[in-house]
Amino acid sequence: MFREKVSKLKAKGLFRATLGIDSCHGPVVRAQGREMINFASNNYLGLAGHTKVVEAVVSAVREYGWGSGASRLMSGSNHLHEELEQRLAAFKGAEAALLFNSGYMANLGVIPVLAEDGVTIFSDELNHASVIDGVKLAKAEVKIYRHRDAAHLNELMTATPGAKMIVTDGVFSMDGDIAPLDKIRNLARKHEAVLYVDDAHGAGVLGKHGRGTGELYKLDITKDVIIGTLSKAFGGVGAYVAGNRALIDYLRSRARTFIFTTALPPPACAATIAALDIIEKDGAALRKTLADLSDRLAAGLAKLNIPADAATPIFPVMTGDVKNTRRISSRVEVRGILAPAIRPPTVAPDACRLRVSITAAHTPEQIDHLLSALAEVF
Ligand SMILES: *Cc1c(COP(=O)(O)O)cnc(C)c1O
Repeated sequence: MFREKVSKLKAKGLFRATLGIDSCHGPVVRAQGREMINFASNNYLGLAGHTKVVEAVVSAVREYGWGSGASRLMSGSNHLHEELEQRLAAFKGAEAALLFNSGYMANLGVIPVLAEDGVTIFSDELNHASVIDGVKLAKAEVKIYRHRDAAHLNELMTATPGAKMIVTDGVFSMDGDIAPLDKIRNLARKHEAVLYVDDAHGAGVLGKHGRGTGELYKLDITKDVIIGTLSKAFGGVGAYVAGNRALIDYLRSRARTFIFTTALPPPACAATIAALDIIEKDGAALRKTLADLSDRLAAGLAKLNIPADAATPIFPVMTGDVKNTRRISSRVEVRGILAPAIRPPTVAPDACRLRVSITAAHTPEQIDHLLSALAEVF
């Protein structure tokens, strides 16, 4: 039965396979014996293979071993988990934070708890799959508002009585555009709604200190509920929710993806603590490098008549339908460029794209190489 299903997927161009990488995850990777420039990564600040991060992991492994043995609530809570939570809360300017094993699990765990007691959820139509799944698990009433459309959101909220919660990505993962958080925050206050921001791609990248989308808009969102992952700009694994202390205390007792899963290995926490040290000390310089490279790429894409916005390091290069996308993708690939073809169900069938993302570890020459490859292909 599955053989047939796989054939069908292949016929539609929707079959997916993983690409084996046999090098450190940097701006250049070796994939199937070939060096390729990596524009497929969310390692925005280049920290995944940073020497200080690696050293922190190695010494934590020597001290604590690898596995954490149980859920945090059983016996798996190491002091590094707690130290990291305090550091993340301080970084976000929030009262407290709680770790999860991934951004996906944070959304699955936190949204249902916040939507207890008959809360209506208002969700942007292009929110990340894990937000959508968290909303589904919540078994709450859901209203989907048009992408980044605060007026539509206001309309829907005005027409809905009772308790409310707005959920939005800070930066949208496949388009790289930014939620109008200033307007959305005002609506949350006006309608006395909980504001829930999944800032997976904003943290470390946006704002003067890299605190994320809220800081970019100069908003105090420390009273709101903010999700961040440790797998993107932080270069590692895990995620957190930051918010007020009572909420965090409640989640520790209620969020099922916190309670019923084995804790992150302590060395993974040591990695993020080292990454935070780097972000707090050298983040501004890394973000400047990233912004300069983004400007360079956006200017080059504009010359090729490819719309581009340098506000984030995510650049969707639209390719239309699945067939055209696969053709373009393979032509880019033979030119030594790794840029994933994004197809349904991640995006709508006519909105396929190459998702190009850049990091502070890239060089201007690598950006130029990408641009000349795209010039040959488009
Ligand atoms: C990547 C991403 C996640 C998932 O985070 P992981 O730590 O990779 O599980 C959640 N939300 C958004 C918006 C993302 O882009």
